[in-house]
Formats: sequence, structure tokens, C-alpha cells
Amino acid sequence: MSIVQNLENIKKELIDNNVDSKVIAVSKTFELSHIRPLIDHGHYIFGENRVQEAQKKWQELLTTNENLNIHLIGGLQTNKAKDAVKLFSCIHSVDRERLVDALAVAEQNLNLKRDYFLQVNTGNEEQKSGINIKQTEQLYHYAKDKLNIIGLMCIPPVDEDSKKHFEILRELAKQLNLSELSMGMSHDYLQAGLAGATYVRVGSKIFGLRS
Ligand SMILES: *Cc1c(COP(=O)(O)O)cnc(C)c1O
Repeated sequence: MSIVQNLENIKKELIDNNVDSKVIAVSKTFELSHIRPLIDHGHYIFGENRVQEAQKKWQELLTTNENLNIHLIGGLQTNKAKDAVKLFSCIHSVDRERLVDALAVAEQNLNLKRDYFLQVNTGNEEQKSGINIKQTEQLYHYAKDKLNIIGLMCIPPVDEDSKKHFEILRELAKQLNLSELSMGMSHDYLQAGLAGATYVRVGSKIFGLRS
């Protein structure tokens, strides 16, 4: 099956379930030559998890294709904040005050405004990035005057039912009056959509397995 057909199938499944989440095509690890049919088809939202890889892949195309929106869905080091602000229209992984500061400085230096999600560690997993549930409100209040925070993002623990985490995230966003929810991947995007995701992040189900 072609990647265009894969995306269309996913979009149809969402529509058939009355879900209107936008699909971020997660193109990490894939070469532009593999991705290009999707762009030619008119899909413009892509997700990457590494700044350097994304620069190499997208920087040039972005100068000629104004419709393209590349989202950063992976963790971000503060020393890469400037490169990230330059490249990505949206960053889903804001999870600490120092990163908020670095992004705000980068925006000022570049005279750019971007959109941001706070990444919430809904499973309170020790090794995982993201702010804990309890500290999310505090980080939001710290960040909201510095950056355009549009919503919350989560990656549920692999060994748990995603649904509970999607609902936790939705409730948190509601409390903070945030309208955007970035949640759901290849194995649970429909669940995420049904739980209110405004963006689902789908990689392998579109592009195939990553090597
Ligand atoms: C890789 C990745 C995805 C996509 O994963 P698939 O299972 O291939 O759909 C979604 N979100 C994040 C944060 C990722 O790193």
C-alpha cells in the first residue's frame, strides 16, 4: 500500500468516527524521497524528533514551500532552542522553565513567534521527559506570558491502556483552558481522537516500520 493510501485510510477512519483530529505525519528516520509523495498529495504537517535530522531534511524545502509545517515532537536541549525555533512552526515538548526561557530568547533574537505544547508525563514515569501532572499548572503559568502555549501533549506508558492517559490530559487542558491536545500514535490514534485529540502523531502506520 502506498503512503498516500495509508494516510487517506487513517483520515477516513477518523472521519467515519466523527473525529476531526489533524494528522501529523511523523517522518523521523525517513528520507525525503520516501516522504515526498505525501507532500505532492497535499499533506503539509510533518513531525520530527531530532533538530539536526529535521534541518537536513526540511530546511531547504521550507524556503520554497510556505504551506509546510514541521512540528518537533521529540525532546529538546536548550542549546538547540534557536535552531528549533528557526525550523519548526510548533514544538510539542516544552517541559521545563529553562527551556521556556531559551525558547523565548530564541524567538526574540529571530523575531519569530511559534506555537507550543507542554509535554505532560501523565504516567509519572521516572525516565520519561515531560512535566509531572502536579507541576503542569505551575509551568503553564510560568510559560504563558513568554510563549504561545496552545495545548498539552502526552506519550502514555507503553504497558498501560492509553485511554486513561488521554482522559487525564484532556481534563488537565480543560482546567487550564487550553484547546489543543497532541496525543495518539500509530497504535492508538483512534482512541486519542475519540478522547478529544486535536492532533494525532502517526508514523509507522503511514510510512512503514522504522529501521
Ligand atoms: C515516533 C513518535 C510518534 C509516531 O510513532 P508511531 O508509532 O510510528 O506512529 C509519535 N509521537 C512521538 C513523540 C514519537 O516520537
